Amino acid sequence: MGMPIMLLDGFGRRIEYLRLSVTDRCDLRCSYCMPRRFNDYAEPQHWLSFDEVERLLSLFARLGLKRIRLTGGEPLLRRNLPDLALRLSVLPGIEDLSLSTNGTRLKEFAPRLRRAGVARLNVSLDSLDRDRVRAICKRDVLPQILEGLEAARKEGFAPIKINMMAMAGTTDDEIDAMVAYCIERGFVLRLIESMPVGEPGRNAGFLDLHPVQERLRDRFGLVDGVVPGGGPARYLVSPDCRFQIGFIAPISRHFCASCNRVRLGVDGTLYLCLGQNDSVDLRGPLRSGCTDAEIAEALLAGLRLKPARHEFQKRPHQVLRLMSSTGG
Ligand code: SAM
Repeated sequence: MGMPIMLLDGFGRRIEYLRLSVTDRCDLRCSYCMPRRFNDYAEPQHWLSFDEVERLLSLFARLGLKRIRLTGGEPLLRRNLPDLALRLSVLPGIEDLSLSTNGTRLKEFAPRLRRAGVARLNVSLDSLDRDRVRAICKRDVLPQILEGLEAARKEGFAPIKINMMAMAGTTDDEIDAMVAYCIERGFVLRLIESMPVGEPGRNAGFLDLHPVQERLRDRFGLVDGVVPGGGPARYLVSPDCRFQIGFIAPISRHFCASCNRVRLGVDGTLYLCLGQNDSVDLRGPLRSGCTDAEIAEALLAGLRLKPARHEFQKRPHQVLRLMSSTGG
């Protein structure tokens, strides 16, 4: 199949980045992400197999996809994930394979992930206070996460980014401590504004990051920086460039005009925007004997449904699905 077509959406944005949710299950119940008693998961028979994922993503890659992030739910809960990582890391055209994790199983998996070609890691860590972590994610996991981070550092993942949800009344008083921790360990810090995705996201205590950015600039003597592969985050860096902090502010400063990503759920649903409900089913075409050309057609047709922008402010109640099922 000769496919010189690029992955363009209806607004001419080039789609180069896919977040692949390999499971919608998670071993934590973070207050802003998943309801405590949630168990309405995708049926296992609907999970894309590794063969299906490989076929679909190799098609994507032939159309111009360059970067894949493995996410979830908690991706390290998917059995044999390093095997899938290995298969994806060698796909022609894929330049970057990364992983988002909550870190609870990182100590066990870091060596195998590294060998499988995962180069970069994002680890979610909202607090350095054990009780607070327990309160946010409903499990006493801070020691495990810190051990996982150490293991990842030893394996040479670079960069390791810490994703911290900046929430009014919950973590806002710990931002400076997290900056100090990341400076000491050589981690990149990314502060994230909570998005009204699902009911938990709407109740998260939104914190506008703009004033936080200005305060940290003065407090730590940081300057504006450009970070290669930094995505939509705005960065402040230390003058020697050793420390970087990104501000992901989809609400206060949306970056939809330069959005280059889509998300694939574990059941083969392609989500075009985190803040909208547009989606297209790719499991059907994959399982009904379609040719590669037909699947590519379904995919390109789906991309044309990508909306211009999210409407988190105008319609904060419209996204009912959870971040864990979309692939955050
Ligand atoms: N389990 C993995 C992890 O913890 O990184 C991957 C999935 S998790 C859904 C990915 C990211 O989404 C996490 O960094 C988390 O903080 C973020 N997230 C979850 N709910 C969010 C919300 N309502 N607004 C903004 N970010 C959210």
